[in-house]
Amino acid sequence: MADISNAQILDALRTIQDPDRGQDIVSLNMVTGLVSKSGNVGFTIEVDADRGPKMEPVRKAAEVAVMAIPGVLSVTVVLTAPTATAAATPAKPAAQPQGGQQTPVKLLADVGAVIAVASGKGGVGKSTTAVNLALALSQKGLKTAILDADIYGPSLPMMLGITEKPDSPDGKRLMPIKKYGLKCMSIGFMVAADTPMIWRGPMVMGALEQMMGDVEWGETDVLIIDMPPGTGDAQLTIAQRVALAGSVIVSTPQDLALLDARKGLNMFKRVEVPVLGIIENMSYFLCPHCGERSEIFTHGGAKNAAAQMGVDFLGEIPLEMAIREGSDNGLPIVATAPDSPQAKPYHVIADALWAKVSSGAGQPVAPEIIVE
Ligand code: ADP
Repeated sequence: MADISNAQILDALRTIQDPDRGQDIVSLNMVTGLVSKSGNVGFTIEVDADRGPKMEPVRKAAEVAVMAIPGVLSVTVVLTAPTATAAATPAKPAAQPQGGQQTPVKLLADVGAVIAVASGKGGVGKSTTAVNLALALSQKGLKTAILDADIYGPSLPMMLGITEKPDSPDGKRLMPIKKYGLKCMSIGFMVAADTPMIWRGPMVMGALEQMMGDVEWGETDVLIIDMPPGTGDAQLTIAQRVALAGSVIVSTPQDLALLDARKGLNMFKRVEVPVLGIIENMSYFLCPHCGERSEIFTHGGAKNAAAQMGVDFLGEIPLEMAIREGSDNGLPIVATAPDSPQAKPYHVIADALWAKVSSGAGQPVAPEIIVE
């Protein structure tokens, strides 16, 4: 696909006014770090820190204006304050230090390997896959943690059956909650399930950074981040602020989901996070009665797409009643029936994933990560 030109994008952004200053955001030089690749556009709008929350409608309007350009598949707009420590623009900090260039301190730098489990859209089984993969890694003997980075729709409390709140012995840092051998953190541990999350963009970023930076993870070989669905600011913040060893994309076989998976993939490529591979979830149906395998969707789509996109295919997980019941009732299959046929694909994929990470697949763009 042809790249959308910067001129086209800037023209669209000239229609967006800064309400306080009465001029458009391009003339005011507020747009920086513009990146456009294969229909995926990202840029930063620079605002003074105290105007951050107020500028959210401008951010949203900019996103909508660029999304309306024919051929644009995804738009990622981040509000940053030029002086804030965490101000990360899509163009600069994602790249690793070059010739003394200053980059913000990465979060979770003490963790052996941080792996982001992502999907282009919700409902593909990303969280189920993240939890079961984390459990499989833990059962390999690795000290494993899982962070639920979905601020709007946290799923870890339900998936792991966690109802307690995390302790904070010093009133500053939070202790992760231990369950099934995993160290776990989710905004859902702190906020009642029926509280609507009406946070604006900058607040979400703040909450995410705290959950990554202010949690006492302790000695950890691998931390799985269950990413929010889609490819917006929160995903970009994580991809830029965390020392990621790599990312994994979960997709269902349907074409639509795969198109979304491509967006996820492109986002990681753009911020130079290695994609460790694609997993096809709900790949085929395993009959609970006769054990027969039926290909109810066009099974294999993710494998073909992975080949086309030049990324590894990590494996397929069947559509299984036992997987669904377990993950919706706090009883994930890999914890409750680790030797079952249903848990097997997770072990196989976890082995493949760990082999890639420990062989240094995440090294090229994350030279500061030391995998032990
Ligand atoms: P996401 O994180 O992508 O939104 P979830 O992990 O919450 O998706 O899964 C969505 C629904 O699909 C849940 O009810 C979950 O139990 C179910 N699910 C996920 N993977 C499978 C699977 N392989 N087989 C059966 N049900 C699954």
